[in-house]
Amino acid sequence: MNGNHVNGDATRTLPKELNHERIQIINDEKQFTPELTDQIDRWGLQHAGFDYDIVAVFGSQSTGKSTLLNRLFGTNFDVMDETRRQQTTKGIWVCKGKGMNVMVMDVEGTDGRERGEDQDFERKSALFSLASSEVLLVNLWEHQIGLYQGANMGLLKTVFEVNLGLFGKKTADGRNQRTLLLFVIRDHIGTTPLANLQATLTADMQKIWESLSKPPELQDRQLSDYFDLSFAALPHKVLEAQKFESEVLELRKRFVDKSREDYVFKPAYHKRIPADGVAFYMEGIWEQVQSNKDLDLPTQQELLAQFRCDEISSAALSEFNEQAKPQRKPIEVGKVVEGLGGMMRNWRTAALARYDRDASRYHQGVYKRKRADLVGVLDSTLSPLFLGQLKNLHKASLVTFKDEMHQGMRGEGYNFADIVSAARQRCEKRFVDGAKEALVEGTDWSYEEEYELLQQEIRSVANQCRKDETKKMVNAIERNFKKQIAEPVELALNKPEHDMWDKVLTAFRENLAKAESSYLAKAKSFDCTDEENETALTSLRKRAWLALRAKVDEQTSDTAFLTKLRTHFEEHFRYDENNVPRVWRPADDIDGAFKKARDQTLELVPIYARIHPVDPSLEFTLPSETSDSFSEAADDFDFPATLVIFTETKILDLMARFRRDADAYYVEAKRSTVSSVAQ
Ligand code: GDP
Ligand code: MG
Repeated sequence: MNGNHVNGDATRTLPKELNHERIQIINDEKQFTPELTDQIDRWGLQHAGFDYDIVAVFGSQSTGKSTLLNRLFGTNFDVMDETRRQQTTKGIWVCKGKGMNVMVMDVEGTDGRERGEDQDFERKSALFSLASSEVLLVNLWEHQIGLYQGANMGLLKTVFEVNLGLFGKKTADGRNQRTLLLFVIRDHIGTTPLANLQATLTADMQKIWESLSKPPELQDRQLSDYFDLSFAALPHKVLEAQKFESEVLELRKRFVDKSREDYVFKPAYHKRIPADGVAFYMEGIWEQVQSNKDLDLPTQQELLAQFRCDEISSAALSEFNEQAKPQRKPIEVGKVVEGLGGMMRNWRTAALARYDRDASRYHQGVYKRKRADLVGVLDSTLSPLFLGQLKNLHKASLVTFKDEMHQGMRGEGYNFADIVSAARQRCEKRFVDGAKEALVEGTDWSYEEEYELLQQEIRSVANQCRKDETKKMVNAIERNFKKQIAEPVELALNKPEHDMWDKVLTAFRENLAKAESSYLAKAKSFDCTDEENETALTSLRKRAWLALRAKVDEQTSDTAFLTKLRTHFEEHFRYDENNVPRVWRPADDIDGAFKKARDQTLELVPIYARIHPVDPSLEFTLPSETSDSFSEAADDFDFPATLVIFTETKILDLMARFRRDADAYYVEAKRSTVSSVAQ
């Protein structure tokens, strides 16, 4: 299966034992092999259960990683050939350790920091190694220690961060995934003791851990919750070849001798995946690694596009803001800004045109994404102006509506319904025209809500107007009614004949009928409901009746009424049938004439005492109201009581007072005969 790979010469000379077969689990297309399970089978591991381990390696290119793995585990990974400097095929390789149940993972690739386009693979393979292995060998030159970039610490930080996000939660059985980071310091000269290098590396790791952005629920997790750190140093392979080999052998013991205290494959690091499930498990990890967006590295082209598109976008935006700013104040203080929509469309179009002109040459994906962002910002700046304009239009239109209503109702003889409908049409048109003008294409703005509010308010203003107008109209009708009724009532009450009330009530009925028809004629134009009309008419009748009563009361006040009686008496006592003043002579029957005139006059009092027509068809009634019903009037209205002008006591009182007046006339008449005799 490796036929298409360029392998080092060393590989070709190795015996092709099945046990030593290596497999490329991730190819240079970043695809996971479907053959790992079969390979595990060929390695004889499929029934190993948990009795196997996984080790991987991390470090810069050409730091002797493959060399180290081959020495430690007897594997046959490609080693860079010094003489030919050939490029090995990119990918992740796994080989079984010789004589041990260890799956060893090696990563091939160019150095990401020098070749930008390979960073993506570098990150993903590093994360994959970390996530799937029990022990990760962190391979580095001694002189790289303390150099953040040189020791690949930046990559480690990213990998830690994503690893925490992806795999940082506890496993199903409640354990943290633990991993041993075994730092292998290469070309250790020996002038700096391992302990010092160890301290530097530990401090670096701690720093990296603290600088990670952690998921909220893992904020307080420590480095030690997930990782153990261990250290080893190896001398120079060429300069101290002998010592190198022996120390590698010494290091190897930590991977094979379970009795050692520093044995690396501790149960705590085991992923607890049975060997026959490892292929599936690893493929799952690779899928997660592949689909993780945090690891996606933008290409140089994209990076440049992001930078430039941001710049171009903010230049366009600041020009746009300059243009929009002066209109903010007038809108805030409630002005309707004429032509605001046109202005907004211009600013927006200009900003986008400017962005398009300069940014469209860059990476299309980035250009489009940043354009959408820009549109979002533009629209969220314009939106308050639009909404403010709507609110101001609403207010202004309503003011116009009220003005037109008052204007229209100024004169006489207007038609209320016509005025309302004309004013409403103009007001709504003004609003809709203004709102349409303010709309900007490409937004999801709408004025419907504000329009509905306005229509509601128009309705309630019109309603209130109608109520006020109806009230005014009823008042005017009442005033007119009072005027009309005054004379006929006075005339009738001044002529106390037996059908006096018939005349009063006839006048009342005629004028009430006029008032009612005048109300109905006007009410038609007010669009009043039948119920409203009924209420208004009932109230009108009652008020008319009370007006009549007031007029009657005025005419029958003590003074007015006694004057009426006196006049009547005088007419009959002091004037003869021909309306000529009488001159009493001693022979005249003064007593008889006096008694007759007085008794006739006294007979008038009961006629006035109660409103009662001779003709029963002229009788008028109103329903009585009591305050426990839900009528508008708070006071009781007892209609039969309003028919009574004088009570019994009042009648007696008035009669007594009149008698005294009449007696005075009698005495005066007597005196006048005496004086005429004396002459
Ligand atoms: P890898 O790319 O990290 O896997 O490195 P290789 O194992 O392919 O080795 C790259 C080169 O470094 C080869 O020429 C090795 O002979 C050489 N090399 C391997 N180990 C050491 C070492 O410990 N010290 C030095 N100086 N060179 C080494
Ligand atoms: Mg290698």
